[in-house]
Amino acid sequence: MSFVVVQNLSKSFNDTKVFSNINFTIEQGEFITLLGPSGCGKSTLLRCIAGLNSVEDGHIMVAGEDITNLPPQKRGIGMVFQSYALFPNMTAYDNIAFGLKIKKTPQTEIDKAVREAIDLVELNGREDHFIDELSGGQRQRVALARALVVRPRILFLDEPLSALDAKIRKRLRYLIRQIQKELNLTTIFVTHDQEEAMVMSDRIFLMNKGAIIQSGAPAEIYEHPVDEFAAGFIGSYNILPADFAQKYFHFDGKYKCAVRPESIYIGKPQEAVPGLVGPLPATIKFVQLLGSVLRCTTEVAGTEITVDSLNLQTSTLKDGQQVELYFTPSELQALNS
Ligand code: ADP
Repeated sequence: MSFVVVQNLSKSFNDTKVFSNINFTIEQGEFITLLGPSGCGKSTLLRCIAGLNSVEDGHIMVAGEDITNLPPQKRGIGMVFQSYALFPNMTAYDNIAFGLKIKKTPQTEIDKAVREAIDLVELNGREDHFIDELSGGQRQRVALARALVVRPRILFLDEPLSALDAKIRKRLRYLIRQIQKELNLTTIFVTHDQEEAMVMSDRIFLMNKGAIIQSGAPAEIYEHPVDEFAAGFIGSYNILPADFAQKYFHFDGKYKCAVRPESIYIGKPQEAVPGLVGPLPATIKFVQLLGSVLRCTTEVAGTEITVDSLNLQTSTLKDGQQVELYFTPSELQALNS
């Protein structure tokens, strides 16, 4: 049996249904991300599993035990929120020790566990600082240490990085994943940021309007989006109407076709590009510099097609330039709807 089993879970607030009949399993030590746009029900689902929201229907099992009706403190969970939820009048150390003190853990054990947690989140030297003396990233490390110190069976992370600036966010992503792997800690992470989901997760549960519409390893979700929503949310897929794709891209699907910008190549006229199909005459409408990548919005027979190329020193792509596109037919993704 899987470590976490969620069966037919349903939740409404008054008359508003957030989700119904959610089913999934999670293995011990997996890092799962609930990914989706704001309002799709990610946090509510997380909070239901954590016991912070009640459920109308369904079951939640952890390690073979039905925890559906247990209070949060009996579920063996650790939780980190976007808003830190720390005590400002206490030091970092006392915030981290709080859960163990409540449990009346002996002081020597508290000391040992808090020291270990401080080491894990790399907060040495800050333990005696009050919360308002710490940066956003350091506060979130305190919150993480506080969640880890009670040795949870599952770690819940609700948009923990969203309030932080980009550089700190990237460092903390790495740190969280490193700790999670070291402790083999089953983790459920909520984010609306697809890049964050991709780099951190073993599996992503992609949600839309209260349903998990696709689940799988990041590469699987990225390379094989099931529908237009998934293709639009993950990466910057071109979504092409079937008749256009049939005419210009040798597509034989019935519904829309999704093509990744990096799987289309811009070749120079008359230049043979081995293994690719083309040329498809196009005009570059505009070029955006995304750092290592040049994103070209091109036009083919009145339809916009985005093409990503590596930003090499030899790149000479310019607005208004006539170019020829080449593609691999096996990279075309037929969407279900
Ligand atoms: P997400 O985390 O994906 O942004 P949420 O789970 O926070 O989405 O919200 C899902 C839906 O449930 C939204 O329509 C939201 O307004 C509603 N909702 C969330 N919490 C409550 C609440 N406590 N009372 C009423 N409606 C709520």
